[in-house]
Amino acid sequence: MAVDQRPRPVVLSIAGLDPSSGAGMTADLKVFAAHGLYGIGCVTALTVQSTQGVRRSEGVDAGLVRETLACLDEDFEIAGVKVGMLGTGAVAAAVAEWLEGWKRRVPAGALVVDPVLVSSSGHALLDEDGVAVLRKRLLPLATVVTPNLPELARLLGGEPQSMEQGARQLLEGIKAPTHQAVVVTGGHRKESETPDDYVLESGSAVGAWVRGEWVHTKATHGTGCAYASAMLCGLVAGQSVMEAAACAKTYVAEALRRAYPVGRGRGPMHHLFALAVRAG
Ligand code: PLP
Repeated sequence: MAVDQRPRPVVLSIAGLDPSSGAGMTADLKVFAAHGLYGIGCVTALTVQSTQGVRRSEGVDAGLVRETLACLDEDFEIAGVKVGMLGTGAVAAAVAEWLEGWKRRVPAGALVVDPVLVSSSGHALLDEDGVAVLRKRLLPLATVVTPNLPELARLLGGEPQSMEQGARQLLEGIKAPTHQAVVVTGGHRKESETPDDYVLESGSAVGAWVRGEWVHTKATHGTGCAYASAMLCGLVAGQSVMEAAACAKTYVAEALRRAYPVGRGRGPMHHLFALAVRAG
């Protein structure tokens, strides 16, 4: 069998570390691998958590984040970046500073910002200073912003009337200098509705829905991280925002369907369901 040794795009995850690997950095790297991309990472925060929830989180030193990003940037041609949990305002500012430079040098580079604010178990994953940096400096740089419904409400300062209205208000409020999209993910919709995502691109009078179906499983920890990482993989592969949104939705649904039991709580989805290699 011929070995494929062609170079592949390198994608960077800037995220927190979840030692149970359902969410955060290690989960993002699995998603990148599942899409055939080489993933590198800059850890922003350490969390103490398992499938049973987050017990504690500590932002890493902002200087370490700055140095890590500079070090990776010297060595790799970074094709795209996903930003997840940032932890603190100091770390968020270090990330913003690096991203502003990267965006100037690589204007076509895809940037997906997942505004991670609170874990499903109720633990704050970004402090107030961090939320301010996210709003002012990070959201305007993003190619795509991927809030879920609670994150959208928090960013808007109140519940939107609808996903469409909330997406419009967020997009108009960000005032990004370049083309941008907001994708509101539907995993927190009512059980009586379907978990559809709403995609709104700047310059468009109306957005579009990506239809979903509920997958009944406990393995929902880290779905937001996986969705945003899969979205980045699509964009780096040259897909449009709509195509990447549809592929990311399909990937997450399949990874949820194929999940196998891990831990006693809300387990991880099966990020690597397409991998055939098995130990033993
Ligand atoms: N831990 C880290 C490092 C995360 O990035 C996230 C979400 O993005 C979470 C925990 C929370 O994941 P969930 O709310 O799906 O349990």
